[in-house]
Amino acid sequence: MTESTRRRRVLLKLSGEAFGGGSLGVNPDVVSALAREIAQASKTVEVAIVVGGGNFFRGAELSQRGMDRGRADYMGMLGTVMNALALQDFLEQAGAATRVQSAISMTQVAEPYIPRRAERHLEKDRIVIFGAGAGLPYFSTDTVAAQRALEIGADMVLVAKNGVDGVYSDDPRTNPDAHKIHSISYIEALQRGLKVVDSTAFSLCMDNGMPMRVFGMEPDGNVTAAILGEELGTLVSN
Ligand code: UDP
Repeated sequence: MTESTRRRRVLLKLSGEAFGGGSLGVNPDVVSALAREIAQASKTVEVAIVVGGGNFFRGAELSQRGMDRGRADYMGMLGTVMNALALQDFLEQAGAATRVQSAISMTQVAEPYIPRRAERHLEKDRIVIFGAGAGLPYFSTDTVAAQRALEIGADMVLVAKNGVDGVYSDDPRTNPDAHKIHSISYIEALQRGLKVVDSTAFSLCMDNGMPMRVFGMEPDGNVTAAILGEELGTLVSN
């Protein structure tokens, strides 16, 4: 495929919250609706997805309650694989071809993470879901989304959020005066300590010129629209 005919390629980051519908574990109705939106958009855009795992475990939280941090982080990573498999199932029910690649070897359920193979899948109209984060404790799936986007040559990182529709001047859940920002530079987001996305993810994108759009998953149709290129939420760039 020549550069001029190359399709838009995006890396969609879905947090664990998007799977549980606010509860522990996976809510099939919620994941099924989400999968239909992604499958629809994937007809015209190449879609790779990094899934979070906060609906199961977050290593930092478990370590505060006495667990070894590394072991707790591995539990967090395994949670992301369960989300990846649930999403794969509902995407296939929605008619999309998919592959799951895991950063931790588990060959019965997922391919290993092989970036060039992931690109090949995308070229063949398959949705690629990256599970198990980076395979490394002390990382977050936001950072993995930035890294995978860079490595597979995505045009943009799309960070889908629950309960918030972009980057705000302060936490809108605690500060009623917080206002939504239409666009912001990475350096300003970092200097202002805006926490909607991890600072490591912001700085990795900043250092490598990868743009990011942070948008809300609600109402229905937003995920499809964001993948298709609608300017929802907040653009973060250099
Ligand atoms: N995690 C990790 N390394 C990674 C990605 C994730 O150790 O490369 C662990 C970490 O404990 C994290 C958990 O997996 O808290 C779930 O990921 P994350 O918190 O990013 O999920 P989200 O908040 O997006 O649901």
